[in-house]
Amino acid sequence: MRQTLRLGIMGGTFDPIHYGHLVTAEEALAQFDLERVVFMPTGRPVAKSHQRVTSAEERFLMTVIATAPNRDFEVSRLEIDRPGATYTVDTLEDLHREHPDAELFFITGADAVWEILTWKEPERVASLCRFIAATRPGYDLSRFMESRNGRLVEEKVEFMEVPALAISSTDIRRRVADRRPIRYLVPEAVAAYVHKRHLYAGGAEGV
Ligand code: NAP
Repeated sequence: MRQTLRLGIMGGTFDPIHYGHLVTAEEALAQFDLERVVFMPTGRPVAKSHQRVTSAEERFLMTVIATAPNRDFEVSRLEIDRPGATYTVDTLEDLHREHPDAELFFITGADAVWEILTWKEPERVASLCRFIAATRPGYDLSRFMESRNGRLVEEKVEFMEVPALAISSTDIRRRVADRRPIRYLVPEAVAAYVHKRHLYAGGAEGV
């Protein structure tokens, strides 16, 4: 019988969530033998304080709609309910308190992991989890190894190529603004929600 709970935490803004995210989580589940993946929509992303971000509640709802059919996926309100700016270190501390014996795998895009040394308390973050950094095909990994975060990356980051990450939230927002289709890029119910709530219709860069 397995001793340690292996828990995936899928961190992202999810503005909106798309099939690239869902494939990433499913692939991480299988490749790293995770018990489940908890999607963690960011509350107030610090790195995006100068950008327009859809409300946390709308992003949370779209994440719930998208993940509902998968029994191995859950969605957490932890970050959107925590007051103040969202820091991953606080989230990992909370999860560590809740599951002291679990092994935490923080799954996100490689470009976000690249910035890790700019995050709040990066060493503490790295002590609380392993990273699964999802890359699009053709992504250049050499910069990670050559950079000053090389040691941290070597010890703590696993890279996972996800062809479906050719889909991006930025492209989806632009498509909606340009009245182009998003069908087959996001789950049908998410597309319906985006149109019903008139999300992204007001401008191509509604991050
Ligand atoms: P981002 O800069 O919006 O995204 C960077 C790249 O990664 C984009 O190409 C994005 O594609 C992709 N990506 C983002 N989340 C992904 C996921 N879960 N799976 C696969 N690809 C993903 O990143 P972000 O959303 O702001 O931040 C990502 C995570 O890092 C969040 O959990 C955030 O809280 C955390 N973070 C923490 C700190 C801190 O603690 N100081 C600072 C920065 C980020 P799409 O646009 O298509 O998603």
